[in-house]
Amino acid sequence: MTVSTILKTKGNDVVSVGPEDLLSSVVDTLASRRIGAVLVLDSAGAVAGIMSERDIVRALSQDGPRALDKPVRQFMTADVVHAAPSDSIASVMEKMTLGRFRHLPILDGGRVAGIISIGDVVKRRIDDALHEAEALREYVASAG
Ligand code: AMP
Repeated sequence: MTVSTILKTKGNDVVSVGPEDLLSSVVDTLASRRIGAVLVLDSAGAVAGIMSERDIVRALSQDGPRALDKPVRQFMTADVVHAAPSDSIASVMEKMTLGRFRHLPILDGGRVAGIISIGDVVKRRIDDALHEAEALREYVASAG
């Protein structure tokens, strides 16, 4: 099972902001889109960073409300770990666990192909477990 299976149901849409966007606008975006992180893309569309709700908490703790008037680039994580559509779901779980983050951008030959969250991964694992249990039940019923 690979990341592309998740992207097939989830789609390739990625909510992004620019490095110069103000933190206040990122707060609005996260709230209105009901998501926990946005990708920061530069003017060429390349990944410049990732900004999650955790970074916003840290920014507010550090700078107080003034942080909201500062650009995203001051608070984002610039060293972004990513995965490819062909990567296994087990390997992305490992990346998220080891890196202690809940979001993983998916890049396909340098192009942003989507973003998956730990919630997407857990949902997929639960769906797979339910299908496997159903297949085993059917097998046992037909064998009996
Ligand atoms: P999260 O658990 O995704 O809310 O993120 C926790 C911290 O990890 C924040 O500082 C994020 O900026 C950072 N982070 C989130 N996703 C990634 C990623 N794929 N690569 C590197 N850092 C990340």
